Amino acid sequence: MNLYEMYKDAGISREVFDYCEVVLSDLNERFDDINKTAELNQLKVLKAMQKNKVSDVHFAATSGYGYNDLGRDTLEDVYADVFHTEAALVRPQITCGTHALALALSANLRPGDELISISGKPYDTLEEVIGIRESKGSLKEYGVSYKQVELTKDGLFDKESIKNAISDKTKMMAIQRSKGYLSRRTLSVEEIGDVIQFAKSIAPHIIIMVDNCYGEFVETIEPSDFGADMTVGSLIKNPGGGLAPIGGYIAGTKECIENCAYRLTAPGLGKEVGATLGLMQSFYQGFFMAPEVTAGALKGAIFAANLYEKLGFKVVPDGKEPRYDIIQAIEFGAPEGLIEFCKGIQSAAPVDSYVTPEPWDMPGYDAKVIMAAGAFVQGSSIELSADGPLKPPYTAYFQGGLTWHHAKYGIMMTLQNLVNAGIVKL
Ligand SMILES: *Cc1c(COP(=O)(O)O)cnc(C)c1O
Repeated sequence: MNLYEMYKDAGISREVFDYCEVVLSDLNERFDDINKTAELNQLKVLKAMQKNKVSDVHFAATSGYGYNDLGRDTLEDVYADVFHTEAALVRPQITCGTHALALALSANLRPGDELISISGKPYDTLEEVIGIRESKGSLKEYGVSYKQVELTKDGLFDKESIKNAISDKTKMMAIQRSKGYLSRRTLSVEEIGDVIQFAKSIAPHIIIMVDNCYGEFVETIEPSDFGADMTVGSLIKNPGGGLAPIGGYIAGTKECIENCAYRLTAPGLGKEVGATLGLMQSFYQGFFMAPEVTAGALKGAIFAANLYEKLGFKVVPDGKEPRYDIIQAIEFGAPEGLIEFCKGIQSAAPVDSYVTPEPWDMPGYDAKVIMAAGAFVQGSSIELSADGPLKPPYTAYFQGGLTWHHAKYGIMMTLQNLVNAGIVKL
């Protein structure tokens, strides 16, 4: 059977197949660059594993207190080496990205301190952590104040305003690398490094925390290479490589990480406790796979951008722009387009491909939201997934794909659905 016949069997028409092949034929150079980044990052991870003498004894399950969990401690050394930091905290007890960020903040801020976000509004879930939206247990409730410096209208750091915002009370600055689900630009590691240097030249003792979610291994450098005191992310995104079933990480200075450990477990206990319950092999193997998995997700994002741009839709980032995270936004301008797109992603999934996603009233949102995810790990967004709120401009946020060919097929299915529904004509 040739490739087209295989796709035909999988629901793809000749015209959709041909259209996609034409788009792909222009992407060789982009894909070569992504492969080079993956190659470099693969060696970086491999070298760290060899240096720390990773061995099968590190995969053994621990229970109870988890004292002397060699696998856990060595994994944290591996992360610290890859991120070029003094220390790291990588734990299944960190339940998600929001938890990792909340931990980094609350462990290093004290009553009377001030936190400044210098990349504008932070990710939605952090609003309650900080107390921008009233919430029990927020930093605000503990007497930590908060300021926000917006990015310029071009999406760049506003150094003048950052300088003016810094006061004697300023203890920490937060930077979010990925745009998340906002329409702003994603920030490059180089820009982040530049602003870190600027901030530290004004106030050397400020702690810089970078929300690195969706950014790991997209470039060959990480924010920690440029003086970020804490670099924070989720293991069910890029660094878990699709294999870690839970977890978060914080890589940073010895002092910051120690504070995080005391906050995660208990003062005095810190890093010494925390059994890993047999999850270590998936953490190691996922981290090992992560550069390649991230590369596949990036190829999918670039393919989708170029495909939908050619069809006349607004895409962010556009087909040519450099990438600093794995998220792709596509504006459909009407609910039907967004819905058919998500149905296409769902129908291409290895898990739950037979279910049809429907818009629903998700708590905390002011419009119905549609979500497509057929993932091995519940809610994992390094796996092929898409979602969007049912309100203008009807934007689908699309990310992930554990393999490039799965991402490709998922995107082809979205186009097939739009063609079948008469929304798009080829
Ligand atoms: C996903 C994400 C988070 C929060 O992660 P969860 O695992 O969903 O709690 C925070 N910031 C950014 C930029 C993200 O993409």
